[in-house]
Amino acid sequence: MPIRCSASVSEKGFDFATTEDTTGKPYPELEEWPHKWEKPILTYRLNNLSPDIQTEEHQTRAVTVSFRAWQLRIKNLRFTRERNPDRPVDIDIWFRQQEDFASQGILARAYYPGQGAVSGNIDINDGWDWVSNVHVSDLGHPPLVPILIHEIGHSLGLRHDTGNPGSQESIMYPSFNLGAKKHKLGPRDVERIQWKYGKRSLSDRIIRYFQERRLKGWDFD
Ligand SMILES: [Zn+2]
Repeated sequence: MPIRCSASVSEKGFDFATTEDTTGKPYPELEEWPHKWEKPILTYRLNNLSPDIQTEEHQTRAVTVSFRAWQLRIKNLRFTRERNPDRPVDIDIWFRQQEDFASQGILARAYYPGQGAVSGNIDINDGWDWVSNVHVSDLGHPPLVPILIHEIGHSLGLRHDTGNPGSQESIMYPSFNLGAKKHKLGPRDVERIQWKYGKRSLSDRIIRYFQERRLKGWDFD
């Protein structure tokens, strides 16, 4: 059974005028979200902890590792962890009770840029029994990193990628098949995020090194 993410969109009170130049859009079949972040640095904070994962360090590292997957690909936007709990941040991340979600099959939800005060925020359904890395033991233990990479994609302004050739390789595919061990951006994810935030030129060797770290769970040793 695939388990799902829900990207929350409320059209009330927001301006949905198109703000993006659609020239050179990599995938014309995808209707891209019309907003992106216009500032150069985004702050984020994991505001509470899940009882499922043994240490605070593992949980904060899962968030850092997930932001890094996107950071390695883009040029015009940087992410900074805010440690002071009293300062406002752009992307607030919370573990929430299962009752806060529309259905128990939902792993997490995120808000797009341009949605007002909630823009970019991520809620993780703590009704699931989370594990920190990308290794999946069974259906009841979803791994935090790939789900966070997916949700951060929404926070940055990517909609789901479904029904197109190659979509299933995308981290932005709307459901998560536990057998797939999805831990990295697919080619379509990379093209789409670079269209929004510019292309960072890093060698394939460096990108593969960090993919390997995620896959092998070295970030949590
Ligand atoms: Zn999603």
